[in-house]
Amino acid sequence: MRRPAIYLVRHTLQRPPFQAEAIGRGNSLTRPELADTVWITAGTRDPGIALAHELAHVLMNSGEHSDEPDNLMRGETSGANTRLSVKQCTQLRENARGNGLLDP
Ligand SMILES: [Zn+2]
Repeated sequence: MRRPAIYLVRHTLQRPPFQAEAIGRGNSLTRPELADTVWITAGTRDPGIALAHELAHVLMNSGEHSDEPDNLMRGETSGANTRLSVKQCTQLRENARGNGLLDP
């Protein structure tokens, strides 16, 4: 399967349940088969923003959140949070390329 992979699912059996989840290299040690995947449930608020947010987690290989106004990586997803900083864009490109996630 090509990575990163995005799964749009009805719900999750995980407890506690998530609305959307990114599984990168760092949080897939006990489930390596799920590395570099994003999971978006039907109940996710602002699903387009949430998808971009979770995909950025995977591409940056980071679970970090930002406190910057309107930043895509704020902990709380909202339609206004669409921006990435130059530093985040650089981190995203470099880590994604290094992990082979930008290969054609
Ligand atoms: Zn997040």
